[in-house]
Amino acid sequence: MGVLKTIIGAILTISLIVFVALFGRLPVFRRTPIAFLHKLLTKYIPSAFVWVDSYLTGRRLSRALFSTGHYLMYEKHPVVLIFFVVLQTLGEIAMVPRLWPTLTLFHKVLIPIMIALPHYYLYLTATTSSSIPLPSNLASPQPHPASPSPSTPPTTLDFGPAHAAAMRAYPYDYLLYHPGYFCSTCRAPKPPRSKHCSLCKACIQKQDHHCIWVNNCVGRANYAYFLLLLLAITALLVYGTLLGWSAMSLRLTSRFAPPELTRGSATTKTWASGTDWAKWFDRLAWALVVDVRVGATTLLCAMCTPLGAAFLAYHAYLLWAGMTTNEQGKWADWKEDVADQVVFRARIEELRRCVDGGFAVGKEAGAYPALPREVEVPSDEVDWPPSGVPAWVWRGRERGRGGVKWWYIRTRSGDQPTVKMSVEEAKARGLADGYPDGNGVKYGEVEVEDLRWHRVLSMRREMDNIYDLGFWGNLMEAIYHRGR
Ligand SMILES: [Zn+2]
Ligand SMILES: [Zn+2]
Repeated sequence: MGVLKTIIGAILTISLIVFVALFGRLPVFRRTPIAFLHKLLTKYIPSAFVWVDSYLTGRRLSRALFSTGHYLMYEKHPVVLIFFVVLQTLGEIAMVPRLWPTLTLFHKVLIPIMIALPHYYLYLTATTSSSIPLPSNLASPQPHPASPSPSTPPTTLDFGPAHAAAMRAYPYDYLLYHPGYFCSTCRAPKPPRSKHCSLCKACIQKQDHHCIWVNNCVGRANYAYFLLLLLAITALLVYGTLLGWSAMSLRLTSRFAPPELTRGSATTKTWASGTDWAKWFDRLAWALVVDVRVGATTLLCAMCTPLGAAFLAYHAYLLWAGMTTNEQGKWADWKEDVADQVVFRARIEELRRCVDGGFAVGKEAGAYPALPREVEVPSDEVDWPPSGVPAWVWRGRERGRGGVKWWYIRTRSGDQPTVKMSVEEAKARGLADGYPDGNGVKYGEVEVEDLRWHRVLSMRREMDNIYDLGFWGNLMEAIYHRGR
């Protein structure tokens, strides 16, 4: 009883600390005990430590600790990956030799496969990079990326073949990704669906997230491996739990409900029959301790299974929705803004025509004179829907092709976007009604409501995810559209 309580207590405490450290800052937990614990962990305890340390060692100890902490948090390092591999290997070494003599041939064949697959997919996920390498003359490191104008284009427009390929992999949706934005660190145009990773120090194609468990970004090139890793790990955890549990329950049965005791009784008696909670825990603790190698590994597997299954379920959802983890956050923001009725959309053709016609448009549409090919690839050169995925998989599900293309903006106030133009022009366009000449008009200009923008009222009807090819289409895209 005591041992089991200690083990479970320790695991729960560690899990809580990790959870608070990782997620305590999320807005969902604002004004909850979790946010307070996060502050306690990241602010109050460290500052108390520094205070004590400044008396004892003149802050020598805290400086060393903080530089280690900085390295662990903000540099790419394999510490967590090594921990992951060691934990997995230790569990396997602890349990498998113990159970081996009692196993059937089926399990003796299955076990090496179940063990090898997670290691193999972990290796592939960790070593396959989705980063966009740039020619060395461009990729000069920028130690302080807080430059005043991140979207200032560099003078050259040759960003190398890898970048050109990344620009042709996905179209811009003018919703989550817009052409004409430059990565402030790489100084190259941001390809659609890419995101710069400060740990990998590169822009990552179809960036999902930077995964510290695999010490690599999960992106276009390795997402399929990552899915297989999640699947293999979850399967191994479930299998380990079941295998360990069957060994433990055999022991429990022979100790607490041996056949010679239960023979002839009318009802089936198990080791758990007729026990209250205390007794039940007692017996479980006995089974854990009597063979602690199998017991501890089984417990570890059982406690990690929900974690693996949750990640797997989340990525199955992302596949169904046609998003990356990174994009899911962006969509959540848009959803809130649509609910607040501050989102507008305009037909891109209409915006572009107005620019061509010399129409003095607002800031958003101002980005719209035709951009260089390196900044916006013509749509017929973009491989989307991907040629690697047979058309019958995604047909009927492709969005935004052939139809109207929209440009989306959010306004701070929720008011109709406005546009400045000369009084004469506004009158000529019939837009200056209600603006008396010279009265309240500055410098011969009026600010009129820009009616090309339409308020978005329904996210489902008016905002399409053009990257969504349906579950099977998205899955095949992850497999066959990896850019290698
Ligand atoms: Zn970048
Ligand atoms: Zn990364």
